[in-house]
Amino acid sequence: MKSTGIPNLYEEGNSLYTLTKFEKPVYGERILIRNSKMYREFSPLRSKLASSIKLGFKPELREEDHMLYLGASTGTTASHISDILSKGVIFAVEFSPVSMIKLSELGKSRENLIPLLLDANKPGQYEPFIDWVDMIYQDIAQPNQIDIFLKNVKYYSPKRGIIMYKSYSMRSDTELKNEINKLKKYFKNISMKNIERFHKGHYAIYVSNH
Ligand code: SAM
Repeated sequence: MKSTGIPNLYEEGNSLYTLTKFEKPVYGERILIRNSKMYREFSPLRSKLASSIKLGFKPELREEDHMLYLGASTGTTASHISDILSKGVIFAVEFSPVSMIKLSELGKSRENLIPLLLDANKPGQYEPFIDWVDMIYQDIAQPNQIDIFLKNVKYYSPKRGIIMYKSYSMRSDTELKNEINKLKKYFKNISMKNIERFHKGHYAIYVSNH
């Protein structure tokens, strides 16, 4: 296993793996054992985060981060982030009660994953459950996705953020430029990766203030 520079995320052959304490797969992913340690395959086909990293996206993720995750769904990507943030915590917001069934099961075994059945449009609703936020990760395929992200940025003042941005327009360049300009008011550094190869119409955007 070769280090990727992101904590607890490794590469072997052509695949990415997260170092894990859990021997049971979350969604059927392959588990490898190397030198008595367990590694879960992190597939670019299943996760936009895995695909963006595979394509050279380099977000800063720290083991001890407190992350607000908006649009956690059933927890596919959140489970790998829970491996990565082994000394941190993920506040996983999802408003679909159906997805929440699996997500809350995941939260029972993973101490650092807090499932919250709430609406990402209303950041005040989850404030009682959150101590602080170092980073926001958002994967919400909604036309007002950047406005939702910025609403949460204003509320929680994170230093870093990742947005899995879905393009809704035929003129995606102009649309994206306008949305990036909104982000520039809050973040000094912005980088982007087109992840169309794995996830149609999507870009991974990383924002930070250092
Ligand atoms: N991030 C997930 C993963 O990689 O495993 C996949 C997320 S899926 C593309 C988008 C999710 O966002 C859906 O589960 C949807 O229910 C959720 N969502 C959309 N709008 C939301 C909102 N306003 N508040 C909370 N969740 C929302």
